[in-house]
Amino acid sequence: MILIVDDTPENLISLKKVLEKHNFEVDTASSGEEALKKVLRNEYVLIILDVQMPGMDGFEVAEAISGYSKAKETAIIFLSAANTELKFITKGYSSGGLDYITKPVDMDILLLKVKTFYRIYEQNRKLIEIQKALLDEIAFRKRAERKKDEFISIASHELKTPLTSVKGYVQLLARSVDKGDIPTVKKHLAKAQVQLEKLNELIADLLDISKLESGKLKFNKKSFSLDTLLEGVLEVIHHANPEFTITINGIPPKEIYADEMRIEQVIVNFLTNAIKYSPGTKEIQINIDTSENELYLGVRDFGIGIAPELQKSVFEKFYRVEETAIHFQGLGIGLYISAEIIQRHGGEVGVKSKLGEGSEFYFTLPLNPVHEVE
Ligand code: ADP
Repeated sequence: MILIVDDTPENLISLKKVLEKHNFEVDTASSGEEALKKVLRNEYVLIILDVQMPGMDGFEVAEAISGYSKAKETAIIFLSAANTELKFITKGYSSGGLDYITKPVDMDILLLKVKTFYRIYEQNRKLIEIQKALLDEIAFRKRAERKKDEFISIASHELKTPLTSVKGYVQLLARSVDKGDIPTVKKHLAKAQVQLEKLNELIADLLDISKLESGKLKFNKKSFSLDTLLEGVLEVIHHANPEFTITINGIPPKEIYADEMRIEQVIVNFLTNAIKYSPGTKEIQINIDTSENELYLGVRDFGIGIAPELQKSVFEKFYRVEETAIHFQGLGIGLYISAEIIQRHGGEVGVKSKLGEGSEFYFTLPLNPVHEVE
């Protein structure tokens, strides 16, 4: 919008008419004081400012405006009776752009100048937008890099812990073997095996992440029984965590068409998280709901829960709830991998949770997907 400031009503009217005819939006002020009030309230691309006015003159107005951060990009064209006055052009005003036109106003010249200032203003705005987008992008890179560094340090630590245990058990094993103490040998072997399995899972997750990143995670889809899959999973989980009772509510569909091992991986991930993040509890439920076209499978725990504002982040890569991260080991990639697996089967993942009361992590899968070849 353009603001015309002139104490002569005829000048205001005729300038306004010409500019509006050329599709410019125009506002007017009949004194310097009124102009300053308007500049505080509105945003102007350009102010056409009569120099000679009773009260505040044009130069004083420009000087005052130069102090307003709001008018930083606003240009000013002075209308002056004679060239000589222009040597007084305000010292302070430097940012938006200044020009002058002598009276009587040559409308063609004025229009040319107005158009030029508009173009500069537009270009300026675009530059500022681009600069902002670039700054945002740099900050986002930097953030991603910091996350990756953090991840590498956590991952190394997580890998080192089971490895150190295995080294310890192997040393103990050597001693027990020397002594011929077979029961202790067996005990240490079993313990080393548990740690090796942990190591194996961690490495498998890391490999999955790198496959996901490079688009190399492939699925081997076929029809299988969810019932049988759940039976197997529950047996393994129960064996490792006998203190937990896991109940199934609902009836699993007879057959689903998906990558069996990957779906098992998601369910195991939900269940191991449910156990890990629920210290001191004993119960976990698997809630199944089958409609005509969709399977819903939720793993409900009664553990620490997740605050509402953090729930949307838990499926992000490397994300771990900061307040609780120190109490539980993890890499913050299991749910990210699970989400990718489910989404690439045409389903969705989600979580319903209440802080301190527990969570239900769930996924849905279409039951009659188009059988495509992967
Ligand atoms: P990890 O458990 O290795 O940190 P995940 O990707 O499996 O990584 O989970 C991401 C984060 O989500 C966890 O660090 C934890 O803060 C939160 N989370 C996952 N499952 C649960 C759960 N059942 N209850 C509470 N918080 C959970």
